[in-house]
Amino acid sequence: MKIVKISVFQKDLPLSHPYWLSGGRLKFEVLDATFVKIETDAGILGWGEGTPWGHTYVPAHGPGIRAGIETMASAILGQDPRRLAHVERAMDLCLPGHFYAKAPIDLACWDIAGQAAGLPIADMLGGRDEEGTWIASSVSTGEPEYMLRIVESYRRRGYKAHSCKVGGDIEKDIARIRFLEENRLPGERFLYDVNRAWTRREASIVMNNVADLGITVEQPCETLDDIAALRKITSTPISVDESLVTLQDATRIARDGLAEVFGIKLNRVGGLTKAARMRDVALAHGMQIYVMATGGSVLADTEAAHLAQTIPQEFRLGTWACQDMLTIDMAPGQGARNVNGKLTVSDTPGHGIVPDDEMLGDPFAVYQ
Ligand code: MG
Repeated sequence: MKIVKISVFQKDLPLSHPYWLSGGRLKFEVLDATFVKIETDAGILGWGEGTPWGHTYVPAHGPGIRAGIETMASAILGQDPRRLAHVERAMDLCLPGHFYAKAPIDLACWDIAGQAAGLPIADMLGGRDEEGTWIASSVSTGEPEYMLRIVESYRRRGYKAHSCKVGGDIEKDIARIRFLEENRLPGERFLYDVNRAWTRREASIVMNNVADLGITVEQPCETLDDIAALRKITSTPISVDESLVTLQDATRIARDGLAEVFGIKLNRVGGLTKAARMRDVALAHGMQIYVMATGGSVLADTEAAHLAQTIPQEFRLGTWACQDMLTIDMAPGQGARNVNGKLTVSDTPGHGIVPDDEMLGDPFAVYQ
């Protein structure tokens, strides 16, 4: 089987409400999504999505995905999409780094490989646990009462996990965390996501102040060196996501005990092939895992849900349904949807999603 055609589509995905990231320093209203259709000479076609959380959050941006695919297209055409490691190596040799540009290609190839084998991607990745994965909401930062109102709106949709964005004024952060913990219901799982907004000093003050609460803080500072320094002077558990980009990052974090949780984002790490290795590193070191897209439609959420559902439940903390934050649905009636606060993948071969033709419009580029 050979890849004979790559079609790239650009689509703006509007958020239903403006969103402020930790510290309130970044505002988002629309996501720049790239959808990729890969066609083969066997008549099987697959879809992948790459949707960064805006251009300003991490070193990944929508136009970069499309430019990256243009650079790699000649190396991808002619590959057998079922040989995922061959496709991965072809892309890595053609364009070092730029994992976010490779993810939609890798994901579309997994879709094809699953269809060719007659198996859902989760079974291709080692086997699906029957139980769905808790969805963590994404709670925009603000006054404590404002954040609680957002949590309550997700509770009404069945959510039991919430990623609450903090990381501004540290006195306010301590107040936010204490207020939200006081209002956390039994059985709920809250993650306090700083998105790199604290300095080392600020992080140590907040994390030591709230150490009695037993909370987990995500990505408190900018770099892994910061987090390594922080780990020595705090006891609050840490999740790392923005600083978890390469497999080398994963092995360093795990072996050196820099964090207790991996936040694996498929588009940041380069797709399912690379993400599955990080899953294995985490499991080998007794670390728990969140698996998410960086953003996007039901397609991005479903791709992440497939990997999530291969993780044993005691290690699987949650996933995300960015689809619930958008005003449009790219694949009505398809893919993993929120049911009682969980995403569950079906046994349809591949991921089972074909985005709506009319919504996609004409391709941005076609390579063949
Ligand atoms: Mg995060």
